[in-house]
Amino acid sequence: MPRTVLLNPGPVNVTDRVRQALMLPDLCHREKEFSDLMAGIRTKLLQAFDIEEKYTSVLVSGSGTAALEMAVSSSLSSGRSMLVIENGVYGERIGKICDVYQFNRHTLTLGWGEPPNMERIENELQQNPDIEIVALVHHETTTGLLNPLKEVGELARKYGKVFLVDCISSLAGDEVDFKSIDIAVGTANKCIQGFPGVSFVLFQKKELQRLDRIPERTLYFNLTGYHKAQEAGGMLFTPSIPAHYALNVALDELIEETVAGRVKRYANAAKFLRDGFKDIGLEFLIPEGWRSNCLTGLHLPKGMSYEKLHGELKANGFVIYAGQGNLSNNIFRIANMGDITQEEFQRFLKVLATVC
Ligand SMILES: *Cc1c(COP(=O)(O)O)cnc(C)c1O
Repeated sequence: MPRTVLLNPGPVNVTDRVRQALMLPDLCHREKEFSDLMAGIRTKLLQAFDIEEKYTSVLVSGSGTAALEMAVSSSLSSGRSMLVIENGVYGERIGKICDVYQFNRHTLTLGWGEPPNMERIENELQQNPDIEIVALVHHETTTGLLNPLKEVGELARKYGKVFLVDCISSLAGDEVDFKSIDIAVGTANKCIQGFPGVSFVLFQKKELQRLDRIPERTLYFNLTGYHKAQEAGGMLFTPSIPAHYALNVALDELIEETVAGRVKRYANAAKFLRDGFKDIGLEFLIPEGWRSNCLTGLHLPKGMSYEKLHGELKANGFVIYAGQGNLSNNIFRIANMGDITQEEFQRFLKVLATVC
């Protein structure tokens, strides 16, 4: 019986080496072993993306949203506001975090899958000097749209704004231009190919002074509090220890493959799948040129419910992903993140063609 292939956008199929890292002796996170492991992970994150010089990293136990909440809640100065660009569930999530913390925010609300218009962003920045942070989701996993990180980053820079980016589903899968970013959020269990349970914030060291002046608004998700503790070799709270050991090995593998190598592998996989989808006659949600390397949104075939499609594929060992919100009755999503072989992608296309 072949293994289940996960074509959902995380958690992903991992290598045996990463899985074996979960088999741990009993250990305490206050001991040197864990402190060394944490320091190693924090450094490897920066090494993998070649940002050691300007960036620092913070680990937090929890899914990607934990690191996102940490970054958003801890980075806005008192009395300032955030410009949130929303064109999917995850942009809306940043907006929700702002609301939970009662931040003032300006919102650029776009249709799901609609790319942002630079003139509208520039207008917002010109008209609202209270904006301190521009927040964007790089790969909007809702649709598979890759937002124009570089262009938005350039605008943020031009107006002296801090640029905060949710890179959770793009880091190591699509090219991320760190030169444009001030604060980036990522997670272990998507294109990094670790297990869920640990996520992270990467931010420019030059941000530290500003961040340090921001009042503590949350006990568990305070970014600078975690940073101070981790710089001193400690963890504030009990971490998800196995997920950290697995992330450490996943980062070794990423450094061996190189980020550029993995981005290429994912791009090739996406191309292979998309050629197959075209042959089957499936319709794409996002036009060519705007798609990420990691996920493809497709319209459901006429007369086929998502439940039926999902059920038949699952019976053949493939897990696909539903659309969210308004799209849930119209689309399905195929991610190509993780340690998936070419043979598995080939077999998937065959099964999909038969089911459709
Ligand atoms: C997966 C994802 C998240 C976080 O989801 P979790 O379930 O908390 O891991 C946030 N943003 C984007 C763009 C994502 O793809």
